[in-house]
Amino acid sequence: MSKKGHFGGYGGQFIPETLYPAVRALEEAYPKIIKTKSFQSELKALLKDYVGRPSPLYKATRLSEAVGCSVYLKREDLNHTGAHKINNTIGQILLAKHMGKKRIIAETGAGQHGVATATVCALMGLKCVVYMGEEDVNRQALNAYRMKLLGAELIPVSHGSKTLKDATTEAIRDWMLNVDDTYYLIGSVVGPHPYPTIVRDFQAIIGKESKRQMRAMTGGLPTAVIACVGGGSNAMGIFHSFVKEKSVRLIAVEAGGEGLSSGHHSASLQKGQSGILHGAKSYLLQTKTGQVQLAHSISAGLDYPGVGPELSFLKDEGRMEVMSATDKQALAACQWVSRLEGIIPALETSHAFAALKQLKGSVKKSDHIIVNVSGRGDKDMETLMAHDKDTAS
Ligand SMILES: *Cc1c(COP(=O)(O)O)cnc(C)c1O
Repeated sequence: MSKKGHFGGYGGQFIPETLYPAVRALEEAYPKIIKTKSFQSELKALLKDYVGRPSPLYKATRLSEAVGCSVYLKREDLNHTGAHKINNTIGQILLAKHMGKKRIIAETGAGQHGVATATVCALMGLKCVVYMGEEDVNRQALNAYRMKLLGAELIPVSHGSKTLKDATTEAIRDWMLNVDDTYYLIGSVVGPHPYPTIVRDFQAIIGKESKRQMRAMTGGLPTAVIACVGGGSNAMGIFHSFVKEKSVRLIAVEAGGEGLSSGHHSASLQKGQSGILHGAKSYLLQTKTGQVQLAHSISAGLDYPGVGPELSFLKDEGRMEVMSATDKQALAACQWVSRLEGIIPALETSHAFAALKQLKGSVKKSDHIIVNVSGRGDKDMETLMAHDKDTAS
């Protein structure tokens, strides 16, 4: 980091004056609290007994044969609630508790982060308010109900595009009005400093475990690590331990939607320009006049016009490669992995598998590739059914 809270020219704190005290308080509290024994022992116990960590690193034999090298799956889909998101919400809820906060707010798009937040609020007995675009409340009725069942208050946001971008703006407004007792629990490596660092640190357990497990299984490092990118938390989580290991290829996979030249995609790193969204500078999809352009992806979790500042930096540094997969390629990859391994990946994760498929032909037999299985596909059954032309077979 060159400047405090910056990754190269990205990151920072582009926030309204009224938020400074809250962001400063978080910045000061975070490094102190995570160093305490009580925080670390509580975190460790919850990750083990509540989340179910460590998640396995599984050698996928049939997938390996199909690709032509050794393929390993980091099974974040086996975590409680079915994805990597809980690693971060567990960490931040403990942080909020140690800061003495009584009320938790969060934004959510498809509802995955909302559910993960409502889950840990129930666990801690804290009040939970989730902002969700009205459009998303309708599209993701099951997750909306899950949050209510878990005891959260769901506030539909009915202005703007009625999606994640507007839900986030509304959550920030709430935080400004209630800074004293409220903790804003952000779901990815985005937002003003220190959030991109906090979320990355809590997700870094994915990479730490993978490195140790890989060493135990093969005696060495992987050749490449592949992860899908929405905001970038599962990618930064698994990449972090490998950034300094220059022999390891880091491959980030963006949602290509209907194709990179269609204008309907979420490929911020490949098709965006540097801009400011939700308190930080990063690659951002925008129009010629600098308005935020709506993103598109078949997977709701990748459907975000921005991306984390650290990923923006790693791309510019040439340390990380960026690939993409279209909606169609992701759907095909989902079926491919389901039938080869008996594992139904989330549609987000299916983008990472689609990239793995694209590497076939360029890999060597001696390569060891890790794919971060960010989540399971149960939540995507309706989408998969609606797009399946092959159900009769
Ligand atoms: C939310 C989500 C993502 C995308 O978020 P990142 O912050 O980029 O990791 C990817 N996969 C799954 C299963 C998700 O729920």
